[in-house]
Amino acid sequence: MNCIFCKIASGEIPSKKLFEDELLFAFYDIQPQAPVHFLIIPKQHFSSLNDISKEHSGLAGHLLATAAELAKKTGIDQSGYRVVLNTNDDGGQSVPHLHAHVLGKRKFLWPPG
Ligand code: AMP
Repeated sequence: MNCIFCKIASGEIPSKKLFEDELLFAFYDIQPQAPVHFLIIPKQHFSSLNDISKEHSGLAGHLLATAAELAKKTGIDQSGYRVVLNTNDDGGQSVPHLHAHVLGKRKFLWPPG
């Protein structure tokens, strides 16, 4: 499949890797929107959150637990951070492989723009 994030997860395209296990790959965003900005992706291809159903609860929970673990590792757990899953056009998704943004080390607005 011609998917940039599948290629990043497999190492075919280089990235600034933060974490990897059998299910997930995490790497720093190439256009950071905050002093700390990394992405967590499942190695399995899902186009968006719309492809996730309750049969994937284990993976989804593992992704959230990994976000918390990596927030601690990158030193943003106490100051705070935002986890974002942009989905389809209105959600602002530009890469059609499910990914969670984790952003920190600055204050974020609510409601989002
Ligand atoms: P989204 O707009 O939610 O789909 O987010 C896609 C994110 O992937 C954007 O923040 C991009 O900056 C980031 N991105 C795209 N290509 C790469 C890459 N090769 N390495 C790291 N991050 C990337």
